Amino acid sequence: MSYVDFNGIHKQYENADFYSVTDFNLQIEKGEFIVFVGPSGCGKSTTLRMLAGLEEISKGELSIDGTVVNDVHPKDRDIAMVFQNYALYPHMTVADNISFGLKIAKMPKDEIAEKVKWAADVLGLTEYLKRKPKDLSGGQRQRVALGRAIVRNPKVFLMDEPLSNLDAKLRVSMRNEITKLHRDLDATTVYVTHDQVEAMTMADRIVVLKDGIIQQVGTPMDLYNKPQNLFVAGFIGAPQMNFFNVTLAGSELTFEDGTKIAVPEGITKQLGENKDVVLGIRPEHVSIDKVALDSFPNQVMSEEIINLERMGNENHVFMKVGSSDVILKVPSRMTEGLGDKLSFMVDINKCHFFNRETEQRIF
Ligand code: ADP
Repeated sequence: MSYVDFNGIHKQYENADFYSVTDFNLQIEKGEFIVFVGPSGCGKSTTLRMLAGLEEISKGELSIDGTVVNDVHPKDRDIAMVFQNYALYPHMTVADNISFGLKIAKMPKDEIAEKVKWAADVLGLTEYLKRKPKDLSGGQRQRVALGRAIVRNPKVFLMDEPLSNLDAKLRVSMRNEITKLHRDLDATTVYVTHDQVEAMTMADRIVVLKDGIIQQVGTPMDLYNKPQNLFVAGFIGAPQMNFFNVTLAGSELTFEDGTKIAVPEGITKQLGENKDVVLGIRPEHVSIDKVALDSFPNQVMSEEIINLERMGNENHVFMKVGSSDVILKVPSRMTEGLGDKLSFMVDINKCHFFNRETEQRIF
């Protein structure tokens, strides 16, 4: 039996004429790190809040560790939540903030002291225990919020955009700290973010949501390699996947601007009756190496560079093919510049094909 079980969960807010979350089904195993990701308003927080018991469930059944919790009070669900805004008590020291929940639960004093010492040690807060939150950096405050959660040793950790108030550099280091903490504690965690990089780097499994409906559940590499629809394909990966309307005739794909590339027989077979499709090419799945251009001349496209970003380690090249905006990642040693035509070989075996009407993956 799974540890957390969402079974046909729906949420309709009072006065709303639509479901904010529709038929949400997910089984989470003990110790898993699950990330809910999707754009603002897709239902991530609502789902998390239903798990926390802060929102009523309109329809469906939710269980934690074998117990149906639909009607269980938040404080009796044995969960700990970490928010974006830390929610620390400003007048209390770090030690008091961390131990507050344990005092309320009437844990013996010496046990509390031991727990606080352990959490401070794990989170690198030992020398700050006597400080107040205002005398800490954003990252340290977020660590105190984490400390308050871990001392309770809950069944499930819930984290709602915990890093979004931190600057970019700190976000990267806290991301590392949270994944390390997860490994050390093996704590079942549900983490909400709109940032696909956080999802990719932290999750055991990612749940992609759009308009309150699950689009795909899978490991980061499942989602990167086999996105089930155009939405997931565009959401996972940065810069995002390029999409082209193409038409297959014989063993050739024709782009909107008339460019043609050859496709191997394996691919035409898989496409079957699908002729007018959406082709997805990740920015990193092209090559400008002479060897590649010479070896696969039938898979080479040549387009004008309309913008160029030099990242140092690589270049991002912007182009337009028909109505599609295109970004390619190419080595920084490239010699072409703005306005020049750049030839690139499309790695056709790494391409993705989608049905134009249903937007679902063909393969
Ligand atoms: P996310 O966390 O992905 O940004 P939310 O779960 O906050 O999305 O919101 C999902 C949908 O539910 C949105 O359409 C939002 O406007 C709506 N919603 C959220 N909270 C409420 C509320 N208290 N009352 C009515 N509608 C709400």
